Amino acid sequence: MAIATVNPATGETLRTYEGHGPAEVERRVDAAHEAFRQYRTTSFAERARLMKAAAALLDEDAEDIARTMTTEMGKPIVAARAEAAKCAKAMRWYAEHAEALLADEHPTEHDVQDSGADLARVHYRPLGPVLAVMPWNFPLWQVIRFAAPALMAGNTGLLKHASNVPQTALYLGDLFRRAGFPAGCFQTLLIGSGAVEGVLRDPRIAAATLTGSEGAGRSVAAIAGDEVKKTVLELGGSDPYIVMPSADLPRAVKTAVTARVQNNGQSCIAAKRFIVHQDVYDDFAERFTAAMNALTVGDPLDDDTDVGPLATEQGRADLEELVDDAMAKGATALCGGSRPSELPRGWFYRPTVLTGITPQMRVHREETFGPVATLYPVGDIEEAVAVANDSPFGLSSNVWTRRDEDVAFFVRDLEAGGVFVNGMTASHPALPFGGVKRSGYGRELSGHGIREFCNATTVWQR
Ligand code: NAP
Repeated sequence: MAIATVNPATGETLRTYEGHGPAEVERRVDAAHEAFRQYRTTSFAERARLMKAAAALLDEDAEDIARTMTTEMGKPIVAARAEAAKCAKAMRWYAEHAEALLADEHPTEHDVQDSGADLARVHYRPLGPVLAVMPWNFPLWQVIRFAAPALMAGNTGLLKHASNVPQTALYLGDLFRRAGFPAGCFQTLLIGSGAVEGVLRDPRIAAATLTGSEGAGRSVAAIAGDEVKKTVLELGGSDPYIVMPSADLPRAVKTAVTARVQNNGQSCIAAKRFIVHQDVYDDFAERFTAAMNALTVGDPLDDDTDVGPLATEQGRADLEELVDDAMAKGATALCGGSRPSELPRGWFYRPTVLTGITPQMRVHREETFGPVATLYPVGDIEEAVAVANDSPFGLSSNVWTRRDEDVAFFVRDLEAGGVFVNGMTASHPALPFGGVKRSGYGRELSGHGIREFCNATTVWQR
């Protein structure tokens, strides 16, 4: 895939980039390694000062970088501005909390003596240069939620961003440099996916994190496994959105629409499968379809647009294939199911609601990365959980109910990294983020996230 900015709203190639060759990659890997020697010894206060400076720069640049993201991958401009603000907030959060999150841990006095020590503690040390392979869908946020904790912990970072967001990728490398982080602490590698293996196998690289597709995750994890290097994987999802009879239906419908079409439907934690109790199914289906149909599809730079284009032509083709397969096998489109004829340029797709889903259809098990919802009627809570868990993915889940017994049942039985009750899945710096099953392993954000790339060192002293 060429490293280029191609506007998904028009299909126009705006800028192409010559990728970094082996000599430049070598120079940057070496710089990350060299920078780590010194940077790892800096104080939390110094790192926090630099991180806050980067957050302030990002606030200043918010409008420009929001337009860049929208131009590169098509997210609505309002969402792009919100993404920039969310990143600055997370940077400040880690600047404030990293020291406490990585404070030494002390076993009980009894356990210290029992181990034969006078003093014993766990001390968190950084691992070294971490390679971050990142996707285009939240081109700032996915990177910042890795970079803020990793840098606050004393690691250095090398970013291999998706090939269709090179301007955002270059901006990120520049941001940390302008904020005053020492040279080499955070750099962008302009390389294609074929060059990842060489970097990952380099002995100077300590670990890797990848957010993206299952195939990319499997490849990076296999290579890292071969090198015995730590990885965190944040892969796809097909999150269930369960609506029980006691739910506040108008709110459940309104949130369902946002949860499905946020980021033009291209979010790993978007609700994708809507599993609705039969007592409220018809009502939910009617209201949800009407609301999906009423969305404004169009120019993502327009403040009033709800749904922009898909990020790539291939992404739209993949989505169309999934919908066509379902329709050919008997599914019904309550709305959408095609491209909008009034938008012939760019990679638009109409918000779509499918019913009559069977396990033979690809949409039942594969991720729909676009504004396509599938509806499932269920007879009771056991069936709801069975349908929800009948997926290779286990990223997050959403449940709507006013009954505490239902909540307890869902929290016990849903196979997912999160259970969001009466709301939609969203990440927050203080809450761990990640999945189970084919959605990956490891956690980002919170104390769990910052400790992923640390060496939990046992200090035992007599
Ligand atoms: P992708 O191919 O996995 O891209 C994500 C990142 O991985 C990019 O930087 C990509 O680089 C890199 N990459 C791809 N194949 C690789 C490999 N074999 N070894 C090392 N790095 C590799 O994802 P995509 O093509 O953008 O989207 C495909 C599917 O991934 C989507 O339909 C969706 O299911 C899933 N996805 C999930 C998320 C999420 O947040 N969980 C985000 C995006 C996509 P290049 O750009 O240079 O190929």
